Order: sequence, then structure tokens, then C-alpha cells
Amino acid sequence: MLDQTSQWYKLQYPECFVNEEQRMMQKMFADFVDKEIMPVRDKIDDDVTHEKIISPILKKLQVDLGCQKSMIPKDYGGDEVLSIVTGALKQEQMARGDYGISMHSAVTDWGWTPATLAYLMAPTPEARAWGKAVLDEFAPMFTGREHRAACFNMSEAESACDIENLTNEGRTVGVRARLQGNEWVINGTKFWASNSGVADLNCVICNLDPRLGKDAFALVYVPEPWPGVSHGKFEVKCGLQADRNTSTYFDNVRVPKEWGLAGPVAWSIFETAVSAPMPLNSGHAIGILQGAFEVLLDYTGQRVAGGRPINQHLSAAMILGEMASFITVGRAAFLELAHEYDHMEIYGLWNTTSMVAKGHAVHALITRTAPQLILKGMELMGSYGYVRENHYEKYYRDAPIAKIVMGGCHLGYFAACRQFYDLDYSSFGPGKLKMPA
Ligand SMILES: Cc1cc2nc3c(=O)[nH]c(=O)nc-3n(C[C@H](O)[C@H](O)[C@H](O)COP(=O)(O)OP(=O)(O)OC[C@H]3O[C@@H](n4cnc5c(N)ncnc54)[C@H](O)[C@@H]3O)c2cc1C
Repeated sequence: MLDQTSQWYKLQYPECFVNEEQRMMQKMFADFVDKEIMPVRDKIDDDVTHEKIISPILKKLQVDLGCQKSMIPKDYGGDEVLSIVTGALKQEQMARGDYGISMHSAVTDWGWTPATLAYLMAPTPEARAWGKAVLDEFAPMFTGREHRAACFNMSEAESACDIENLTNEGRTVGVRARLQGNEWVINGTKFWASNSGVADLNCVICNLDPRLGKDAFALVYVPEPWPGVSHGKFEVKCGLQADRNTSTYFDNVRVPKEWGLAGPVAWSIFETAVSAPMPLNSGHAIGILQGAFEVLLDYTGQRVAGGRPINQHLSAAMILGEMASFITVGRAAFLELAHEYDHMEIYGLWNTTSMVAKGHAVHALITRTAPQLILKGMELMGSYGYVRENHYEKYYRDAPIAKIVMGGCHLGYFAACRQFYDLDYSSFGPGKLKMPA
């Protein structure tokens, strides 16, 4: 239960970062998690077909609460929830219940991010026209009563980190787009993206000619089902079963020219879109840690070992105290970062070197530390921690992927170094890949 009246709450979510409207949204998601997810959280990952538990929850979240239209502009009947603070608060609460459910919802927002930003911020008339064409065609699907999903389809089997590594400027993207008359023709394979195989709309990250890097970079929207698009099997993962991940094959896929944008503007929209999740996924990691902490607090307060409740042993209190400390510091850091993202007129664009460095610095530390602390907490749970119905093992399984999904914490720390010196961590050069010829 999120008690917004307590002094601890006020200290954790200070007024300088969280306004009244954001507090209401946070409470709505917290209540949703307590009512719809907590009672079944130990069963979610065993719902292999998604029919019994996962799909009904997703429908309530995405359609009934309206989350699938969060990123759709008001002009198109959406809610236009662009605040990163609101998004981070949502993702923290959702991941406290289930990271996979949250990922499904977050990635529908992510899939829409390029088109919506292009339409609302209009970096160029061409980009705005692209955003408008995509919204004209597909927004109505997402504002209706059917459950819909979008996908930010970027990663590839050969190395996804190399695509997220911005110093490579799109040269490692293997999916090719070419313009033929009034159509884009797309060929190649993607792997891993959240919502792949269940998405109604993909934002496909392509390159026309890898030799040209960002000058030939392209973002092309492809709906599904669509001729030439197919998928592999759904991956069975350590956790996050509510989030679907598979391959997407593009075999001479043809879509209208208006659904694609190419060149440096597309690249800059991509840089912005891959920067956006830093505060958001940091919220996820703190939410997972908070969920684990609550289980641990409850269990160690009741279970007697060594003649007293476990939480009365000072060795245990050290671990609980360390978790409470990190939740406090991590939450303050992601809220501050989210606040800065919401005020680019003061702090700069999301794809500037300093903002990327700050975003990664916060994200890498939070997402790397949360699983380490959850592993420490496992010691206090004894064998009970290892069993589904005691809930702790779920957070233990969910946490590690948070540090991978945005390209890995190594890239994150490298990006942080770039604020201070010119670190070369591109995939090309002596002893590495040859530049595409
Ligand atoms: C649950 C889940 C959800 C996902 N959602 C999405 C999504 O919505 N959209 C999408 O496109 N993708 C998604 N992905 C894919 C994800 O982004 C990639 O898995 C991630 O970027 C890591 O890529 P990789 O697995 O190919 O690792 P690799 O690229 O093989 O990298 C492995 C490791 O190598 C190290 N490394 C990488 N680069 C360097 C370097 N330059 N120097 C030193 N070390 C380096 C890092 O430690 C890295 O973690 C998802 C994956 C999962 C599991």
C-alpha cells in the first residue's frame, strides 16, 4: 500500500519533483498493482499462453486504464502523457508488481515515441509530415477498445549493444530499407524486441547503406499482420514472461513511403528515443527492489532463527538497511533525472553528450546495484526465498535483465566517461570490426 500521507512518502517523493497530478497517477498505478497483480504475482510467469492471467491484466491496464493511448497526441484522441516523471513513477509502481507487465505497457509507449515526438516537436517539416502520416493511419487503432501493442524493433541477433552504441551511428544495423518508387522495401531480421510477435505496429530501425552511417539511417513503421512479416518462437526467459520476445523476419516487406523517415533527422529522433528510457527503466529497477524489500521486511520480521526474528540480527539489519538506503538514493536520482528530462529548455536535449552521460550514469548504477542487493537479501530468506509462492525469487529473476535491456551497463558507464574525455568504444577500428566498405 502506497501511503501518500506518511512523512516517509513525502521525503521520498518531494514536491519539487512530483506534482499533484503525478501523485494521483502514481496512486492509481499503485492501487492497480495491489489489486490486480499482487494477488497473482507468483503465477504470472507460469501463464505460458498468457490466456489465464497475463492477457486479462494487460487488457485492464492498457485499455480500461487507457495506457495504450498514453503516447498518442491529444489531436488524435490520446492522452499525450509526455512527462517522464509520470512515466517513471508509473514504471516504478508497475515493476513492484511485475516487470514483464510493465515492460509490455512501456514498450507500446516506446514504439510510439518516434512518431509522436516528430509530430509534436517537428524538428523538420518532413519529420512532422512523417509523424502525422503514421498517426493518421494507426492512432485510431490504439484509442479504441481493442487491446493493441506497439514495438520498438531495434535489436538484432548479431549484437544489440552495437546498435544501441550511439558511437556506431547505425553502421551495425543489419536490416536494410530501400526506397522503390512510392514504397519502402525492407529485408532482414530483428531479434528480442519486447512485444515482438504480439505487436500491431512496429517502429523498425533500419539502414539504407551502412557505409553512410547516420546519413542513411531510417525509421520505418510496419503494421502487423502484413505481407512478408513473420516471427520465430517466443523465448522462454528467466523472468518477464508477460513480455513477449521473438525474432521478426522482414522478407521484401513493402510499406508506403510516408511511413518511413531517413537521414540525420531520423538518427536524431532515434538517439532521443533510446535516451528516454534511462529514467524510466531506472524507475523499473527501483520498483523491483522495493517489491523485494517489502517481501524481505515482512518475512524477516516473522521468521525466527537463532532464537530471535531474523530482522533483529544485526547482520540481517545491515542488509535491510543497505536496501533502504539504496532505494532512497536511487529513487532521488531517477526522480531528479526525470525532472531534468521534463525540462529540456533548462537542461538540454535528451541526445546531448551531457544528458546522455547523466542518464546513463544514473541508469547504469541503479540497474547494476538492484540485482546485487536482491541477491544479498536472498541469504536472509533461507530456502523459502527459492520458492515461487513466497514471492522473493520473482524479483531475483526479474532484476538482472534491467541492466541489459538498454544496451548493458558497460555502454552506460562508457557514455558517462564521454562527459569527461573522448573515450573510443565504437565497434570499429584496429582489432575490432572493419568499417563497412
Ligand atoms: C526482456 C527483454 C526485453 C527487450 N526489449 C527490447 C526492445 O523493446 N526493443 C529492442 O530492440 N530490443 C530489446 N531487447 C534487446 C536488448 O536491448 C538487448 O538484448 C541488449 O541491448 C543486449 O544486446 P545483446 O543481448 O545482443 O548483447 P550483446 O550485444 O551481445 O552484448 C553483450 C555484452 O557485451 C558487453 N558489451 C557490449 N558492447 C560493448 C563494448 N563496446 N565494449 C565492451 N563491452 C561491451 C556488455 O556487457 C553487453 O551486455 C530486449 C531484451 C530482453 C531480454
